[in-house]
Amino acid sequence: MTETVSFNPWDMARQQFAQVADLLELERGLRDILCHSKRELTVSIPVRMDDGRLEVFTGYRVQHNMNLGPTKGGLRYSPRLTLDEVRALAMWMTWKCALMSLPYGGAKGGVIVDTRQLSLRELEGLTRRFASELSIIIGPESDIPAPDMYTDAQVMAWFMDTYSMHVGQTVHSVVTGKPVVIGGSYGRQEATGRGCTIIAGEALRRAGRGLKASRVAVQGFGNVGSVAAMLLDREGAHVVAVSDSRGGIHQPQGLDIPAVMRHKLDTGQVAGFPGAEPISNADLLTLDCDLLLPCANENQLTAANADQVQAKVIVEGANGPTTPAADEILGDRGVLVIPDILANAGGVTVSYFEWVQGLQSFFWSESEVNTRLRELLLKAYNKMAGAVERYKVSPRMGAYLVAVDRVAEAARVRGIYP
Ligand code: NAD
Repeated sequence: MTETVSFNPWDMARQQFAQVADLLELERGLRDILCHSKRELTVSIPVRMDDGRLEVFTGYRVQHNMNLGPTKGGLRYSPRLTLDEVRALAMWMTWKCALMSLPYGGAKGGVIVDTRQLSLRELEGLTRRFASELSIIIGPESDIPAPDMYTDAQVMAWFMDTYSMHVGQTVHSVVTGKPVVIGGSYGRQEATGRGCTIIAGEALRRAGRGLKASRVAVQGFGNVGSVAAMLLDREGAHVVAVSDSRGGIHQPQGLDIPAVMRHKLDTGQVAGFPGAEPISNADLLTLDCDLLLPCANENQLTAANADQVQAKVIVEGANGPTTPAADEILGDRGVLVIPDILANAGGVTVSYFEWVQGLQSFFWSESEVNTRLRELLLKAYNKMAGAVERYKVSPRMGAYLVAVDRVAEAARVRGIYP
């Protein structure tokens, strides 16, 4: 398979979908529906900057499909964000929610902005105006945002407050990933990294190994990567390398992850951690290790480096880190790739729990959240494994088969309006 030099995640998402549609022999009309977004909104967001000047930012919200329920998906703030990236992420959310049997369709959104250039006041202004612009299509029963790259619980709190001010009452369930004090769920902040750890443990268990003493490399040390590294460390794995956008660190006998987390909090980066060797993000991906967790961006494992990857198992904490060409190379080399729509589904699963708790105004303990999360993830793993066995395909195709089949069934039974 050849790969174009310029990477387009929307092309990649549709290419993956086309492979599954072929395997499922999906009827032509339905294929067409599912490879389009249902709704796309582009908004201009004027923000009064601290120096008095007005700056206009561009934001997006894409709702890919709502056959299974209201749409759900995160908001990403990034200077390089594109509409095609948001479209791909929205489609992947549809498949993720379907694989997890959640009553949601997929959506995604974001703003083209480098948050490092904004003051806290400017970030709040941007978020509130963005929430106001999106309020015509979001709501607790229509479309429910959540955090993603460079957005967090505080951004969700501003978002929820703005929506609530618009409608004149507090609406908990319009976003998830909120602080616990305003209707957030225990365990939500750690949920994606916890899910990665559960799935990595299950993948290794099925391969006759375990997490204990396995050597792990983690790319990206944000919400997903840092929590996954911490929980893997607690399970007895040796996290030998971690990285963030400023570079990585490597220690063959295993890093002291709680100390790395403190160092990141103090300095804003993992680089410079005492006693560790520096390592580039590129070298981290091909490091000699048992388990690799890409937890940063799309397009990290490509045709250019897939043949050098030494990990035996890859658990995709990030969305879309592996291109289709890399998938093929890794598959041929016997590397087990656990796809994003399962590996990082812990986040949307606990978001679902948060939404349910908010709607009922009845809140669960952290242990209840974590127990239910494990149950749903292992159930989805089983379904994926069943499809892998039945169709003799990769885990990614197995997960997609389960997901696309479920969405297609819902679309057929609902029919086409009018
Ligand atoms: P985040 O903003 O908290 O952290 C991102 C991390 O990646 C940061 O440490 C950043 O420095 C690092 N990074 C950025 N570019 C990098 C690069 N080129 N190389 C190495 N590191 C780089 O974001 P997050 O919420 O942890 O999201 C990470 C990924 O996980 C994204 O693909 C996101 O879509 C996906 N994801 C997140 C959630 C969630 O609940 N937050 C859920 C599912 C999937």
